[in-house]
Amino acid sequence: MNAQSPAAIYTPIPELSVIVPVFNEGENINLLVEKLAPVLAGCVSSWEVLFVDDGSRDDTLSRIRALALQNPNVRAVSFSRNFGKEIAIAAGLDHVRGRAVVIIDADLQHPPETIATFVAKWREGYDMVYGQRVDRSTDGPARRWLTERFYSLFERFGETALPAGAGDYRLMDAKVVENLRRMGERARFSKGLYAWVGFKSIGIPFEVQDRVHGQSKFSYRKLTSFAFDGLASFSTLPLKVSTYIGTIISSFAIIYALIFAVKTLFYGADVPGFPSLIVSVMFFSGIQLVFLGIIGEYVGRIFAEVKRRPLYIIAEEVGPDSARPEILARRGETLIGK
Ligand code: UDP
Ligand code: MG
Repeated sequence: MNAQSPAAIYTPIPELSVIVPVFNEGENINLLVEKLAPVLAGCVSSWEVLFVDDGSRDDTLSRIRALALQNPNVRAVSFSRNFGKEIAIAAGLDHVRGRAVVIIDADLQHPPETIATFVAKWREGYDMVYGQRVDRSTDGPARRWLTERFYSLFERFGETALPAGAGDYRLMDAKVVENLRRMGERARFSKGLYAWVGFKSIGIPFEVQDRVHGQSKFSYRKLTSFAFDGLASFSTLPLKVSTYIGTIISSFAIIYALIFAVKTLFYGADVPGFPSLIVSVMFFSGIQLVFLGIIGEYVGRIFAEVKRRPLYIIAEEVGPDSARPEILARRGETLIGK
């Protein structure tokens, strides 16, 4: 903690901080805190819930404000626009101070009671206690199939092993959080980051519940780009694929050239063959464009990293402990509207 920061704006450090990324979850806010409060009161001495409002366009923020007025354990940071769940989690990790931190979805798909078990394991000495979903029946069959494909790819080619069924629902000790904060990547794939930092970890199975209100905020388009982020950040698979296919195609070309040379020697040159020529020209230019595209994706990501834009912009803070100077200094964020 920064020695120059005014101590007066801080309330005592809570034992447990709960981060809740929220995007248009107005109906779930009160319900979630209602369910969380007794569980937290039952297992820790002090706690805070930090909502990270990811640019909601409904009444999410006004409901959080109302709740924070009644409940001093409720705080929020609110983004200037939608930055995505991964970045909301990063902001949450930057802004909490608990000796342990839990990340939970707002829609009650993650049963709050499991937190008691998380805390018990943390007290036993585990630094990371992750929830493992026992089944994915709450997702549609297509999403489930694609998810499985993604994880099996990741398992073969990714640089870190991801524990099966582990998601964002987890408890982390403050020292794990401190290390996660040091990762300034723009293309965030938290599941990979959690695994990458290591520490003594254990999985706790839980049953994913149905969403209480509203709909999933993840479209197939968002999930696909998320999956690509994951593979691109934690493996070089996309680049390797182009090397493999390029090699295979070149060997075909060499074989074809040999056949052609032999044929010309024995039978002389023949003019026909334009269709195959056109087809191969089109095929190879297509392949080249695909791989240029893959390289372009990487260049785009490198560009995004080197620009060093702030990861997020906070428009408003709700509740106690606002404006921690060291947080703002760490990433050079701006506080608009303060
Ligand atoms: N979320 C977010 N920003 C987004 C999308 C989602 O903060 O751009 C939050 C959302 O409000 C919820 C959590 O992330 O608390 C999980 O989202 P959702 O339930 O839509 O995802 P799913 O359960 O389908 O994976
Ligand atoms: Mg959900």
